[in-house]
Amino acid sequence: MSNSDLADIFKLYADLSELHGGNAFKIKSFASASFRIDKITDPLFGKSVQELENIEGIGKSIAQKIDEIYKTGGFKELQELMDATPEGVRDIMRIKGIGPKKVAMIWKEMGVESVGELLYACKENRLAQYKGFGLKTQESVSKQIEFIYASASFFHYAKVYQPAQDLLAELRLLECADRVEICGELRRKLEVLQSLEYIIETDDEASLRDELSACEWLEETETGYVYVGYPVQLYTSNKTNFAQQWFELSSVVAHRDKVLSAISVKASFAQEKEIYEAAGFPFMEPELRENNGEFERAAKGSLPQLITYSDLKGPLHNHSTWSDGLHTIETMANWCIEKGYSYLGMADHSKSAFYANGLSEERVIKQQEEIAKLNQGFGDKFKIFAGIECDILYDGKLDYEADVLKTFDYVVASVHSVLKMTEEKAMSRLISAIENPYTTILGHPTGRLLLMREGYPINHQKIIDACAANGVILELNANPYRLDIDWRWIDYALNKGVSISINPDAHEVNGFLDMFYGIEVARKGFLSKEMCFNAQSKEFLMAHFAKRKG
Ligand SMILES: [Zn+2]
Ligand SMILES: [Zn+2]
Repeated sequence: MSNSDLADIFKLYADLSELHGGNAFKIKSFASASFRIDKITDPLFGKSVQELENIEGIGKSIAQKIDEIYKTGGFKELQELMDATPEGVRDIMRIKGIGPKKVAMIWKEMGVESVGELLYACKENRLAQYKGFGLKTQESVSKQIEFIYASASFFHYAKVYQPAQDLLAELRLLECADRVEICGELRRKLEVLQSLEYIIETDDEASLRDELSACEWLEETETGYVYVGYPVQLYTSNKTNFAQQWFELSSVVAHRDKVLSAISVKASFAQEKEIYEAAGFPFMEPELRENNGEFERAAKGSLPQLITYSDLKGPLHNHSTWSDGLHTIETMANWCIEKGYSYLGMADHSKSAFYANGLSEERVIKQQEEIAKLNQGFGDKFKIFAGIECDILYDGKLDYEADVLKTFDYVVASVHSVLKMTEEKAMSRLISAIENPYTTILGHPTGRLLLMREGYPINHQKIIDACAANGVILELNANPYRLDIDWRWIDYALNKGVSISINPDAHEVNGFLDMFYGIEVARKGFLSKEMCFNAQSKEFLMAHFAKRKG
C-alpha cells in the first residue's frame, strides 16, 4: 500500500466521521494526517509503530492505525463507520462541492440514499430548497451526476494499458489461437475506452470457444468476457480474412467505408498495407483511422512521420520539493540523465498556488541559485531549465511582476483557480495570458480531468490562433487524466504552425513516464518529431528561450 493509498484511507475516515457527527478535533487530526502522509516520499507501510512515531507529523494514534492497516488491511473504527453508511451515500460523498455535512443533510433529512435518487431530487428542484444548497449547487450536483453516468462505462487508456498487454500474452498462449492482435479503441489509442478488443485467427472456432470457457482468468458474460474487471470483446477470423478484418475492427466506420469503397477489384489481402495500396491511399496508422483529417492530409501528401517516445529529448513542466513534488531537483535531473535525456525543465508552482507551496519571489531566487549550481556540475552534457508554472490569475494577469518573470528561462502559464467560469471569462483569462510576452507555453489549456471533470469551456480555434499570433507553444499535458489539449485539436494547431510540448507535469520521477501516454494521443493528432517542442535539442530550446526574452 502506497502512502497515497494510506492518505486516502485517513481522508475517508475523516469524512465519514464528519458525516456521522463525530468529534471535531479527531476529524481535523485525521484530515491533516492524510494531507501530510500524501507528501511523505519514504514508504510508511511495513514500518514499526516506533519508527512511524519518529517521523515528523505522525503522532502515536496515527502510527498505531498505520500498523493496524498493515496487519489487518483496515482499522476498526473505519470499518464501523463504513458499515453504518449505505453504499449509495458513500457514492454521494464523491460528488464535488458538497462536503460531509451537506451529505448528512441529504441523507438524514431528505432521505436520499443513492446518486440516482439525488439526481431525481435535483430534477424536482428539491435540493435547492434545503438550507445552504441553493440553485447553483443543485445545478452543479445534477451536472456532475449526469457526467458520472455518462462516464461510468469508460476507462482511462493508461489504466487498461498494462492489463491489455497481459491479456494479449495470455491469449497468445491458447492452443487454438494461431495469431492474436489488439484491435478496436485500444489499437486506435483512444484516451478513454469501453472495452479491450482482440482479433484471434483460428481454424477451429468451436475448440477455441471451449478453450476460452475453460480459462480461469477470463469470465464469460452475456455480452462478451471480463478480464480483471475490464470488459473484453473477442473476434475470430480465418487466415484469409485476417488482415481485412483486423483493419475493419481497428477503424471508425467512416474511415473503413472510405477505404473499402475506393477498392475496385475484390481481393484477399495478406497485410493491412495492401488494403490501402489497393484503395490508392498511403498507409494510415491505426491511431489515425478516425476520419478526423487523415484523408485530407493524404490528399495533400502531408501525412507526417508520427512522433515516437524515443524522439523526446527531455521533460518540461515538472514539480520538485520546492512546491508540491516529491523529489528534489537533483534527483529528478539524475533520473533524466540516466534515461539519456538532454535536459529537464523545472516548472514549480507560482506564489498564488499556496495550497501547492508555490514559490514566493525570494524562493524563486533561491531555486534559481540551486539550479545554476547543479548546471555548473553538468557542464555541456545536460541542462536544467529554470522555468515556472505560473498561475493565470482571475483577471488574466500572470502571478509575478515583469522583473521576476524575466528571470525564468521559460514560463508555463496555467489556470488553477476558479475553474468554474463561462466561456467568455475563460477566453479573456487565457487570451491575456497568451498575449503576455513572458508566456512560453500554455499549460493544460482546458483544465479537464478525463471521466472526472469537464474542462472550462473555451473556443479552441481562437485559443490556437492566439498562440500562433504570439508564438506561444501549446501544451499537451501528458498526465493520463488530462491529455489536454485534446488530440482532436492538434491538427488545427499544426496547420497554424503552433508547436506542441508533451509535458508530463511530473510530481515525482515516475511521473516522467506519463510522456508515453502523451505520445500515444499526440500521434492521433498527426504530431511529428519536428513539431514537438521537447523533441528538439537543448541548443534549440536555449535559442528559442533567448529569442523570446530578447
Ligand atoms: Zn497545472
Ligand atoms: Zn503542473
